[in-house]
Amino acid sequence: MTDKEKKQSSIDDKLFKVKYVSDEESHLKPDAIQCLVCKSKVCTYICPANVYEWDEENKRLIIGYENCLECGACRIACEKKCIDWAYPKGTKGVTFKHG
Ligand code: SF4
Ligand code: SF4
Repeated sequence: MTDKEKKQSSIDDKLFKVKYVSDEESHLKPDAIQCLVCKSKVCTYICPANVYEWDEENKRLIIGYENCLECGACRIACEKKCIDWAYPKGTKGVTFKHG
């Protein structure tokens, strides 16, 4: 391993690592009727993990809940306050750890 590779490896080791264990069922459940009439679709740009995407063709949210960082921002920012939000069950969801 070169000095450069050793340095990079050491930086990587020090960075936070994020591990996901997906639940079978989404822990993020917006009210689809409210989403239809929502003007801002703020969830689609407030989320740091880009979990929400608006599907214009089918007029519905696509929710990549497996990537959720459980920060809670979408629940607070949602224009209609209509996200039924819960932590993933048991040991599911995201884990933050130092490498
Ligand atoms: S901000 Fe709320 S109401 Fe609007 S699309 Fe997102 S989840 Fe639905
Ligand atoms: S809790 Fe945070 S990371 Fe998860 S979907 Fe909402 S904004 Fe995105």
